[in-house]
Amino acid sequence: MSSRIILIGPPGAGKGTQAARLAAALDIPAISTGDIFRANVKGETELGKLAKRYMDAGEYVPDEVTNSMVADRLSQDDAVNGFLLDGYPRTAAQVSELDRILAEQDVEIEHVVELTADTDEVVARLLARAQKEGRSDDNEDVIRHRLDVYAEQTQPLTDIYRDRGLLRQVDGLGEVSDITERILDVIR
Ligand code: ADP
Repeated sequence: MSSRIILIGPPGAGKGTQAARLAAALDIPAISTGDIFRANVKGETELGKLAKRYMDAGEYVPDEVTNSMVADRLSQDDAVNGFLLDGYPRTAAQVSELDRILAEQDVEIEHVVELTADTDEVVARLLARAQKEGRSDDNEDVIRHRLDVYAEQTQPLTDIYRDRGLLRQVDGLGEVSDITERILDVIR
């Protein structure tokens, strides 16, 4: 069973939902950079104050900040035997940093699962989530901008991982439990 996995996909594709389910099924920690940032915003830490400006604007937090946060998280004991990364890497510089961290530990990513969903669907989901959860970056203008930033900076990373033979594309439309099964099928 594989244990070092990246989940990639546009905002609203369902990464967070699937990450939690997969982590439970595979007994590995789900590491979500978005969740770590939100916890810091809530706790009003220095990192949170810095991150909030970017998050509310739908921009990526600067790579140096995100990279050192992830390096720190991946050095913790529970991540030694595997992890599922949700929302990282999102830029080419983050791919390089992750490569460096893993090379140092002498381990490798086994699968990069791309969760796909078309733009109309993800916008609809994010607007619905905005009503329920009130996340400060879930309003229509910021959502559109997050999707543009994703298309420009993160979508190209799938080519990098395809070239490495690691990319597994999974349709993110359908029942939550069916999608979890689809993902487990492609990584087994
Ligand atoms: P979504 O996938 O819906 O955009 P996330 O919770 O993954 O939601 O991310 C929310 C915000 O947190 C992003 O818009 C960005 O500002 C910040 N963020 C999360 N992960 C990263 C990352 N790897 N690099 C830079 N910023 C990030």
